[in-house]
Amino acid sequence: RPRVFSGMQPTNASLHLGNYLGALRQWAAMQDHYDAFYCVVDLHAITAGHDADQLRQRTRVTAAQYIAGGVDPERSTLFVQSHVPEHAQLAWVLSCITGFGEASRMTQFKDKAARQGADATTVGLFTYPVLQAADILLYHADKVPVGEDQRQHIELTRDLGGRFNSRFGPTFTLPSPYIPEATAKIYDLQDPTAKMSKSVGGSGLIELLDEPKTIEKRIKSAVTDTGREIVADRENKPGVANLITILSAMSARPVADIEQDFVGRGYGDLKKEVTSAVMETVLPFQQRVRELLDDPAELDALLARGAAKAREVSAHTLRQVYDRIGFLEPE
Ligand code: ATP
Ligand code: MG
Repeated sequence: RPRVFSGMQPTNASLHLGNYLGALRQWAAMQDHYDAFYCVVDLHAITAGHDADQLRQRTRVTAAQYIAGGVDPERSTLFVQSHVPEHAQLAWVLSCITGFGEASRMTQFKDKAARQGADATTVGLFTYPVLQAADILLYHADKVPVGEDQRQHIELTRDLGGRFNSRFGPTFTLPSPYIPEATAKIYDLQDPTAKMSKSVGGSGLIELLDEPKTIEKRIKSAVTDTGREIVADRENKPGVANLITILSAMSARPVADIEQDFVGRGYGDLKKEVTSAVMETVLPFQQRVRELLDDPAELDALLARGAAKAREVSAHTLRQVYDRIGFLEPE
């Protein structure tokens, strides 16, 4: 079976609707046809400053959200990145075939660094895409389900994998991004020209673990426009278009049907329907997360089993890489 790899950072307690629609929902759907590896990427989560106790908690909560979102730990390999040392080890090797200029062109780094300021920006944030390439290449993943924002990083992954293969002999599978167009980019409710983003935060996020009242309030105060037509016009009506995207994705209704339904109705109505469609997923999701967190020992055991399964692949890949580049095998 073809392989799939993906991950999310445990940087917030809650995933947001962009993480869910752009990634998690695809992960669950792909389990049937792929040999799937889904990782809580905690190494990535320390690139921009963090609190240790919070990270411990958020790593478990993130894993619980994977399961609540439909990842089946019996069928997929679900694990925590830091439990598998080969991620950091391969990242070092790849960083030595990555051009400084090449890494400097990553737009996500430029955006985040601009937001944080030069003094708060770490070297870890700069090399983050190289670690991400290692995450993917270690498992010989064919497909990587992610949001549109990750396209450039997957392109870098292919470049690095291809470069390694041509210098040292065929080793890595070159992965393709899997980015369904309809949900490739969910926008911030308060700034519908920017992507919904954990690190930006604020009341423009729909957080899956938030109080239902808060979610309702945030949808109600979503920025729209001074017009009244409910059409998916991304250019001129980004707020309304985003709400339609969300409603369409959460209720499995085509955009054209929604536009048809809302002829002559107001933005308030649209927001109400978005809210109930979101709640229909969120309420059982929250219930399942609570159950899973009730038994952290079981969750930890499950993650340990996942890490052992992941290492069966990653250790083999790393051994091969070390051999190809000329590192002696330890006696
Ligand atoms: P940060 O702002 O800290 O980078 P994030 O919100 O981008 O956080 P990540 O953990 O970096 O979250 O990303 C997890 C997955 O969710 C990735 O596959 C990413 O492409 C996807 N994703 C993130 N935001 C969106 C969005 N607004 N729309 C669609 N997919 C998204
Ligand atoms: Mg991100």
